[in-house]
Amino acid sequence: MSGRWFRNSFFSILGVTVFAGVGRSPAAPRYPTPSEQPVLAQDYLHNRLKLWQGILHLDTWNVTLEVTPRAELRTGTVGNIRWDDEQKSARIRVLQASDYEVPFYSALEDMEFTVLHELLHLELAALPRTDESRVEEEHAVDRMAAALLQLQSTSTRATP
Ligand SMILES: [Zn+2]
Repeated sequence: MSGRWFRNSFFSILGVTVFAGVGRSPAAPRYPTPSEQPVLAQDYLHNRLKLWQGILHLDTWNVTLEVTPRAELRTGTVGNIRWDDEQKSARIRVLQASDYEVPFYSALEDMEFTVLHELLHLELAALPRTDESRVEEEHAVDRMAAALLQLQSTSTRATP
């Protein structure tokens, strides 16, 4: 199992352009109500999980996603992953948007970051791991996730 620790420096990295078209009318943008947000988050993150699984060539894995209340995650973490090599199955848990102390779309960005961060752990799962390398792996996975999201958001903007 591997957890992702909360960090608040991420929020400035991405714009919200990727959310255009998530059921919002361009003429009259409407912020989703608290009761609409969990479904919106689940749909969005499920799609992003499939996208990142494809990009990382992890589509042979059966990866499930659970949006999780803070009380069910280790203190100070915003997500984790467990996997079973033989079954090729994994479960990613991410902190639910309503437990973030930031606006919904900022929370959603960080939740996607967590999904990608945890998938990158899966990518590295076959490598040897020690207590010392775990710390380095966390930093490396964070940097790779940030780089991938930044590239992806740039290419989204460049597409007409
Ligand atoms: Zn991690």
